[in-house]
Amino acid sequence: MFSKTLAVSAFAAAALVVVACMTLDIEVRPKNARASVEEWSPTGAYPSHEVYYPGTEELGPDEIRIIACGSGMPMPRVKQAAACFLIELGNGDKLIFDLGTGSFTTLYALGIPLDYMTKIFLSHQHADHMGDVPTLWIYGMQNGRSKPLEIWGPGGGGMPESWGTKSAMAGILKFYNWMLETSKGALDTRSLSMTVNEYDWSKVNNVIYDRDGVVIRTIPAIHLEGSVSFILEWKGMKVAFSGDTLANRWWTEAAKGADLAIHECFLPNRYFVEKYKFQPGEAIFVSTLVHTTAPVFGKIMAMTQPKRAVAYHFQNDPDTLPAVVTEVRKVYDGPVDFAVDGMVWNITPDGVRTRVAMLNSQPYPPPSVTPRQQAAPGGERYQTPDWIMQGYEWETLPTMDRVHEEFNEEFGTDFRFPLRPAGEE
Ligand SMILES: [Zn+2]
Ligand SMILES: [Zn+2]
Repeated sequence: MFSKTLAVSAFAAAALVVVACMTLDIEVRPKNARASVEEWSPTGAYPSHEVYYPGTEELGPDEIRIIACGSGMPMPRVKQAAACFLIELGNGDKLIFDLGTGSFTTLYALGIPLDYMTKIFLSHQHADHMGDVPTLWIYGMQNGRSKPLEIWGPGGGGMPESWGTKSAMAGILKFYNWMLETSKGALDTRSLSMTVNEYDWSKVNNVIYDRDGVVIRTIPAIHLEGSVSFILEWKGMKVAFSGDTLANRWWTEAAKGADLAIHECFLPNRYFVEKYKFQPGEAIFVSTLVHTTAPVFGKIMAMTQPKRAVAYHFQNDPDTLPAVVTEVRKVYDGPVDFAVDGMVWNITPDGVRTRVAMLNSQPYPPPSVTPRQQAAPGGERYQTPDWIMQGYEWETLPTMDRVHEEFNEEFGTDFRFPLRPAGEE
């Protein structure tokens, strides 16, 4: 009896799935699908998967593509790095809004030359918004970037000079001092320097970037001090990015009607007790006095009315997402995406299309756009001390000589392993 009921239920479920699929096929085909059924063959390439394969789509002249390279919380996880959004414009610009811990991995997976991603805009200096600046900086230098990074970051506005972005970026040079000194003569050190444009975070509608018709301005954010939100405008389109902030009146004014409004959205308070093991006092403090909790995110979007809202800065898991959606939907019924890493938005004057990218988990550096050179002109060459080199295991020398011979044969070079036992040449 029991098994018969089960069998009947299974049959009914299967029938439902079939009906659902038929319905889906007929009525819910995406309006913006790029090919009709008549245009493709099931044995040929199918161009309309609702997925983005990086490096396969050119942007239109009036198109913006934004990729979430970090959508989560400060501690990076395999599925979600900390805050980072890559903004690509149809004019060729690629701008990075925040570069939080772990996000370099996703940037690298996109297959964009590391010397073509040199403009970084920092909303504030928490590690989850700039922790991977040193990573992009050092690996760009080692993998074909032959020009400085350009950083826009907060300073001034009443803060001590040592709290500003210039001071922080100078610290990277100190942090990597050993690495830089021992790389002299082997790296293209033209990429060593950084251009830091420190902006006054306290100003309202402060234009910090104005090139080729792309304008980026900052508005103060309420997040300790020294934090801002960015408003990017280009060809009549507007993208707003909150960084971290409490609901603030500058945002509701400046972000109004944005094509895409990306705003932080913290998990409801109880998750900070349950998942992060915070004391209740810590939980309510961090999610209501330092960050925007989910219900308030909803209210902000109801007031801002963007063409599409994006909620980020929370651990988007099967058990947390429904609670976030429920809270947001109590006060906001407009279009909203709950970000995951790799989520992609294509924005045109006609609207916004949301997909998720297939990320290459085993990338190699793409070719540089600037000519590569072995080392900076005039750079002193570093030499490892002789005594440590003399610890070389000479029994491996014949193998090493063979390695050189084979390499020379393949590449037409004449390298010789320079180490020899003392007294031998
Ligand atoms: Zn922060
Ligand atoms: Zn943050």
